[in-house]
Amino acid sequence: MGLLSLGTPLPWDQAKQYADYVRTQGIEQLIHIYNNTKGKHGDVLLWGDEVEYMVITLDDAEKKARLSLRQAEILADLAKLEEQGLLKEADVTFHPEYGRYMLESTPALPYTGNPVDLLNVQRNMAKRRQIAKEHLRKNEIPLTITSSPILGTPGQFTEPYYPPTGPASRSLFLPDELINPHARFPTLTANIRRRRGSKVAINVPIFFDKNVPKPFIDPTINFDRDLYPEDANARDGAALPDHIYMDSMGFGMGCSCLQLTFQATNINEARNLYDQLVPISPILLALTAASPAYRGYLSDQDTRWNVIAGSVDDRTEVERGLKPPPPDLKTDNSDFVIPKSRYDSIDSYLAINDPVLRGAESHYNDSKLVVNNKVLARLHEAGFDELLAKHFAHLFIRDPIVIFKELLKQDNEKDSDHFENIQSTNWQTMRFKPPPPGSSIGWRVEFRPMEVQFTDFENASFSIFIVLVTRAILSYNLNFYLPISKVDENMKVAHHRNAILEEKFWFRTNVFREGDEHSANGDAVGNGQANGSASAAAANHGNYEQLSIDEIINGSPTGFVGLIPIVRQYLQNVNVDTETLCTLEKHLSLVSKRASGELKSNATWIREFVRSHPAYKFDSVVSPEIHYDLVKAIEKLTNGEGWNTDGASILKGF
Ligand code: ADP
Ligand code: MG
Ligand code: MG
Ligand code: MG
Repeated sequence: MGLLSLGTPLPWDQAKQYADYVRTQGIEQLIHIYNNTKGKHGDVLLWGDEVEYMVITLDDAEKKARLSLRQAEILADLAKLEEQGLLKEADVTFHPEYGRYMLESTPALPYTGNPVDLLNVQRNMAKRRQIAKEHLRKNEIPLTITSSPILGTPGQFTEPYYPPTGPASRSLFLPDELINPHARFPTLTANIRRRRGSKVAINVPIFFDKNVPKPFIDPTINFDRDLYPEDANARDGAALPDHIYMDSMGFGMGCSCLQLTFQATNINEARNLYDQLVPISPILLALTAASPAYRGYLSDQDTRWNVIAGSVDDRTEVERGLKPPPPDLKTDNSDFVIPKSRYDSIDSYLAINDPVLRGAESHYNDSKLVVNNKVLARLHEAGFDELLAKHFAHLFIRDPIVIFKELLKQDNEKDSDHFENIQSTNWQTMRFKPPPPGSSIGWRVEFRPMEVQFTDFENASFSIFIVLVTRAILSYNLNFYLPISKVDENMKVAHHRNAILEEKFWFRTNVFREGDEHSANGDAVGNGQANGSASAAAANHGNYEQLSIDEIINGSPTGFVGLIPIVRQYLQNVNVDTETLCTLEKHLSLVSKRASGELKSNATWIREFVRSHPAYKFDSVVSPEIHYDLVKAIEKLTNGEGWNTDGASILKGF
């Protein structure tokens, strides 16, 4: 189970004095890792998922469903199983998460590249849910929902009750007791607020159902409260009209998601995989849409990403471009203004040896990249190529937010804590994970945009689909490159209500490289050799079109071939037995039908459930009563009631 380092976290005014020290040491640690592992080759595909749960307490007498703050006790119980070797035997493990009502689970050991392993995914997820359930109270359930509609609402929404606020978050809506009490998390929360100079401010557009007043001024915000100086933020303009206002880290880091990590053969394959999954990220964010409600209201968006981005946005007003820099401000960064939060979509491609990218970097890496100049110079000196150096010099524009006093002194040849301090608080759509020092683990990439789904079947489906996409990318040497500015446009569109059916996304349509073999080579971890010259690539920047999610996923007869047809072609070319193929097809079918609209997204399903509830007043309010029924209905879906396990009818109606 995931262990968190213990120690004394420094408050922001002390931590900031060590920021440069941590960055400098962290880069030295990275250089050691790089020098030791850049030539590492022959690692096989290993991969694994992370599923995050919210533990809900049901009060059937009062018809209330609340967030249970028992994470610590539940994990302590699970740790006993771990000590007895029982979790390992079941191939599952559990980790703490930011919210005290959350759990994270992964397989104990990563899956291999053997296609038969794909059959284990749903089974393993079901086992994790089962084991979690066995360690909950009778009236508690683990739900895989992305955003909790009840989080931060007036009245009691946690079990037990705590009044909203506390010194860490100073929130008008959330108690600090909702934060995992391990020192890391309250410190993260407080230091982000302190560094930024105000509370975070997240404003999600309200869904204007027919009885929502215009303008919408949220009656649940206490504009008069003056417990903390930051309470003035809301009345000073942080809370926008016509929006659902959220003011602390818990609203974002308290969301759940589904993440996947893949090990590559070597650093170059990892860089390629990272790049190719970048344009896929907003598409899968939109396709997995599951979060239409926040703080008791239906919102006009279906996905969570900008809520989390806003919830940890520690940039100062100068860094956000709202104020000119003071004359004495010194920074190592190439610019004072930083366009994005440290939780956001990635900003640059990495695979310098790719013939499409080489010579056309400015075409694809077309967004302004703020870098830490000192870090960039050091990485150049250490022999990092331009794109890799810029990638890390960009991550290292951020300050370390939590520094443990006891961990300041480290052995840079053996430790990686200072590096990980910055790396792991850059929460982007993709993460490029270098091998941990002293381990046998290879270069990995993490795919992070997806929203978690109600059922193990759906979560397995999206996991399997992306695993197969990565295999097809490597086997066919696929080319999905799209200018970063277009990926960013897609990220915005991916939030829109019903984006799956109503929006179009930029996507490259010529994904097969000219002169390449288009057939799979049968090797599950095959790495097709790229060809074509850099100048040819620079001259031909590819065809990008605006396609619907259906066209991107299922293809269209006259346009793009479609990701599912590519994956099916791949499966035909590798040795998969009929039974395995049959199961995989059920999962692919769910992804395909989500894209075509034959099956509803979790977000649409929740929105329709709320809007068709007898107690709903068409005022976009998700009342405690509606929330209780919603939770009960999702629980039934999770238990397999109301749909066939082959996914044919899931979420058609319920
Ligand atoms: P983090 O929270 O840092 O992203 P976790 O440990 O929670 O990491 O999850 C990492 C995932 O990667 C798990 O599903 C795990 O099974 C998987 N994994 C473990 N080792 C490897 C490896 N060598 N290659 C790829 N994936 C791995
Ligand atoms: Mg994790
Ligand atoms: Mg997690
Ligand atoms: Mg992760």
